[in-house]
Amino acid sequence: MPQASGHPVRRPAQRMREIRQAINLVRYRKEAPVRYVQTTGKLASSVVQAHPEPLPVGHVRLAIAYVGVCHSDLAAVAEGEGDFPRRLGHEVSGVVTESATAALPPGTRVAAYVDHGYASEIVVPAARTVVLHRDCSLLDGALAEPVACVIGGLEMLSFRECPRIVLVGTGFMGLLALRYLTAIGHRVFAIEPRASARELARHWGADIVVHPDEVDDRMRRTQPIVIEATGAAAGLTLASDLVGIDGTLGILGYHQSNDGERVVDMQGWNFRALRVVNLHNRRIDNILTWMDRAQRSAALGFVCPSRLVDVRVNLDELPDVLAGKRGHDAIKTVLCSDADREPQAYRPMESI
Ligand SMILES: [Zn+2]
Repeated sequence: MPQASGHPVRRPAQRMREIRQAINLVRYRKEAPVRYVQTTGKLASSVVQAHPEPLPVGHVRLAIAYVGVCHSDLAAVAEGEGDFPRRLGHEVSGVVTESATAALPPGTRVAAYVDHGYASEIVVPAARTVVLHRDCSLLDGALAEPVACVIGGLEMLSFRECPRIVLVGTGFMGLLALRYLTAIGHRVFAIEPRASARELARHWGADIVVHPDEVDDRMRRTQPIVIEATGAAAGLTLASDLVGIDGTLGILGYHQSNDGERVVDMQGWNFRALRVVNLHNRRIDNILTWMDRAQRSAALGFVCPSRLVDVRVNLDELPDVLAGKRGHDAIKTVLCSDADREPQAYRPMESI
């Protein structure tokens, strides 16, 4: 293989650790029963033990490596949303342990786009997986889905003529949006209430970072592009107040609190002729394409979401996370396979 130039290549030792981790996962899984987390009602989840599912043609069995804990899952459990019992977890990576398709032999490392990932193993259609680049870690692979949401969302906007982009909210999704923009040199003015998240925003390349109370009144109704990434009513109000005439408000935040009801200054939106863009996407084929781009970007060292992971839990600890009893102030919590806790297993030590 020719050496690529112009980007950091993962060191051979790191790659060896990834391979060892994959082997450990497969070995560990062969000996352990299937376990998954099931939500039974508002704030109530538990670990269930089950028999392995059959493997239909065109599917693979995955030993789960990592699953990102998404705020949309936390909100669904907090609000008691959906039919119970319910399984969750859509930011998934794993290693194929058994395959009913020639395209994905056992040992293949993949990201999967599914909604039942909080488990020790799952059965998924091969068409819902993305094979990981050899330099993409399993942790970055799991977080390809949220990065895909950022890619698909931000590319609905045009930044070409914009000297500075305003970003309201630098939690996990906001930070990924920030990284995507700064990777191609954009100047980003970030607004975030939490000091720790402001610090990360500075570190991840924001030009200016302020607390919402520090926003200069002269900025209001003047900005060409404002991206809202809070999912909260106050964040949406602040973001829309900042957009100038003919400007664009991009809504990346997922608004679930108060049943998703929001009050907006419609007259102000009308008067300023705002273009309001919902930066969400639901087409699965597109999301899989963007997940592939996301994992390649991580492999090439551009947007590496694993660096934002600050809380790791196992399956037994996950019900408390879903109930909001732990990790609620985390930037990003991930579920790690039990195998990852074995002393010989690789635990990535990537730091910010
Ligand atoms: Zn998510």
